[in-house]
Amino acid sequence: MVIMEAMDLTLQQAADLLDAYRKEHKLARIVDPDECRELDIGEGSCQYGRPCHAVWGSNHRCSNCISYQACHTDKERRKQELRNRQLFEITSRPVNLHVDAATTLVASLELIDWREATPAEVADIPEKDNDNADFLNQHDTLTGLFNKEGFSRAVRAELAAQPDTDFTMVSINLRKFHMINDLYSMKKGDEVLVSVAESIRQKCHTGALIARLFGDHFAVFEPTDETLEARLQEFLDEALFVIEEDDIPLHIHAGIYAVVDRNLPVAIMIDRADMARKEIENDYNIGSAHYTKKLWETAINKQEMVNRFTDALAQDEFHLYLQPQLDRKEKLAAAEVLVRWIKSDGSIVSPGAFIPCFEESGQIAQLDRFVWEKTVQLLKSWEGTAFSDLALSINVSPKDFLYLDVAKTLQELIEKYDLPMEKLRVEITESAVVSQSKMVDDIIDAGFHVEIDDFGKGYSSLNTLRNIRAKTLKLDMFFLRFSDETKTRGRVIVDHVIHMGKTLGMQIVAEGVETEFQKDHLLKADCDYLQGFLFSPPIPVEAFAKKYAVH
Ligand code: C2E
Ligand code: CA
Ligand code: CA
Repeated sequence: MVIMEAMDLTLQQAADLLDAYRKEHKLARIVDPDECRELDIGEGSCQYGRPCHAVWGSNHRCSNCISYQACHTDKERRKQELRNRQLFEITSRPVNLHVDAATTLVASLELIDWREATPAEVADIPEKDNDNADFLNQHDTLTGLFNKEGFSRAVRAELAAQPDTDFTMVSINLRKFHMINDLYSMKKGDEVLVSVAESIRQKCHTGALIARLFGDHFAVFEPTDETLEARLQEFLDEALFVIEEDDIPLHIHAGIYAVVDRNLPVAIMIDRADMARKEIENDYNIGSAHYTKKLWETAINKQEMVNRFTDALAQDEFHLYLQPQLDRKEKLAAAEVLVRWIKSDGSIVSPGAFIPCFEESGQIAQLDRFVWEKTVQLLKSWEGTAFSDLALSINVSPKDFLYLDVAKTLQELIEKYDLPMEKLRVEITESAVVSQSKMVDDIIDAGFHVEIDDFGKGYSSLNTLRNIRAKTLKLDMFFLRFSDETKTRGRVIVDHVIHMGKTLGMQIVAEGVETEFQKDHLLKADCDYLQGFLFSPPIPVEAFAKKYAVH
């Protein structure tokens, strides 16, 4: 295929070029594929002409319009089409038409030739349906694949036509596709989508139904076939190089659902394939996954939690647990508030099970707002007791920032209960500190003691430490988990991170301390505070009050 970038043409150059091409081709014209019209280019003027599909004797916009593709991908496109036993050869080249100094129109130069088709061509090439309005309603203009409506109808028809064949639904998605649009351009994004559509087509057997459902979400429906996974893997590996020239690896992942219940709505079949795909969304080493019953149960479980949330909150099923932070003399210095869901049957659910689910549903902000208020009430109730000096740390989810002005909410709580600000510490994960730095700054500027949580859990960047004025650094337990091979290096890193944090004026808390050995090492490395099962797991408020009554 000839590949060329868009040509830049003034109106005069365009007119001259058309004159030249008209000597070689039956039809040479410039079209605006977005409006689907020819452009009449005269001296210093450019006007909308007749609909471009009129040339086929058609009164509808073309499906799989290659001029649209050429413009949206900056690449030349070609196709052959059989209409009324005439064989059309069409070439579309992208053009930036400089109408005047301030106006550029993205258009396409079309070169079209036609002749009587031979009997062999008539047999080989399917006749283009002129009445293609229905085709268009069911297809995606950019890639020529089915759109969601067309796909659903075609799948249903295929299931009816082949009652004895087993089918598989595959959901395909590009990871971080928005980055291509953000970093490059929509045009580049469109180009990638067209290439991906092309590679999917190549890897599928004839007869497979392929759709671009929306954005970067594709689906394939085909007879169940043991080569599927191998073909999929080939496609995923090759896709990595789609935009190789720009050095951006394109990661694609897929979910597979073997259609067991043929009467399910097609949307649900896609949902199930999606469910499998989402399981591996954040794992770059796995390209595809199968839908299983267990996945479905997990999804149901999640949905039940989301549905139960409002009642559970109203019925006081969320409880504060406290985990102590001890100083170097193992005296109680502060505590972290960790929420537990205690259901009416007495079962205790850990936050690891429900926080991600509420983060996804957006309910996390309501839960956190509740936990923060309960914490402030607890601190207030401790005034005048042995715990009057004790500070409590609350957790802030990165998703809270989407729904709440966290700084303002915390400030209002402090004011409502007339509490000294230093009593309420705010734990924010390192990743949120980086992505929401402005809002974290607001919390610090409001006067709160901010702790960087889970430092070292993800891909830590030392820039976090340079840019954020947090008072405390909480080392994630990952730092303390060494294997025999990583022991020496691990310890060197712990020592130096502690040293660096302290030199930058921060207090250091080590989380997840489980052994005497870890404790001794942390104390030697000059760590300020320790938190972990070695001293106490998170416990209910009453148990905590009893355990540390004299401290
Ligand atoms: P996190 O903030 O990193 O909290 C520390 C977690 O480590 C707690 O798990 C705690 O029980 C556990 N842990 C403490 N010491 C040890 C130890 O020595 N060994 C091991 N293996 N684990 C230890 P938990 O309570 O299950 O909470 C899990 C996560 O859920 C928390 O991680 C936090 O990110 C989130 N979370 C808990 N409560 C809340 C909340 O009220 N709001 C929000 N947004 N997130 C919360
Ligand atoms: Ca925490
Ligand atoms: Ca943590």
